[in-house]
Amino acid sequence: MLGEGIIKGMAQTAKNFLGSYSDPERLVTVQYPEERLPLKENTRNFPFLVYDGADPMAGLRCVACQICEKECPPQCIYIIKDTAKKPDYMGKMQFQPKVFDIDISVCMSCQICVEVCPFEAIKMDTEYELSNHDRFGGLLLDKRELAKSNEHYHKIHPTDATEVDARLAAEKAKAEAKAKAAPAPVPKPAPPVKAAA
Ligand code: SF4
Ligand code: SF4
Repeated sequence: MLGEGIIKGMAQTAKNFLGSYSDPERLVTVQYPEERLPLKENTRNFPFLVYDGADPMAGLRCVACQICEKECPPQCIYIIKDTAKKPDYMGKMQFQPKVFDIDISVCMSCQICVEVCPFEAIKMDTEYELSNHDRFGGLLLDKRELAKSNEHYHKIHPTDATEVDARLAAEKAKAEAKAKAAPAPVPKPAPPVKAAA
């Protein structure tokens, strides 16, 4: 029949149009901000600094090696290394950043900083409601604003965080076993006592 294809096409279009209003599977929008769609586990936005323990500053995993700063394509990470080591949350002496800033108005969410960090210290956050009224520095985040707990990391990326915890625990156990197996240091002989004149 002449025009049969056109009629079929229009019927399909009408079906899709009406379905987009009535089929719950196809309602892709929600009443934001009252409603929010759940985020996928691999959602990423801007980086944050992971800390362990209860004190965000003492527990930062970052040792200020500055690799991420060098590798960041738009150069939006700014680090000043502290001159002295400080105890971390386990009491081990570590270098820490005196300054660690990220200008998230420049960050392009590439995740390169995360991939190059040898200490699992920087991860991608999922926070996206970051707009504010401060034109000068409102999106320049310092280490206190960037620090978020390992629990937060587990909450937003549970698979990755569990794998990282297991790897760090295995590395720690290996280092402890190696230290135990190492021969005890030989004590230095006492200096000879000078005979009285
Ligand atoms: S976040 Fe990682 S790569 Fe960047 S300075 Fe800290 S330890 Fe180094
Ligand atoms: S996500 Fe990319 S652009 Fe953003 S701070 Fe990390 S390396 Fe730089």
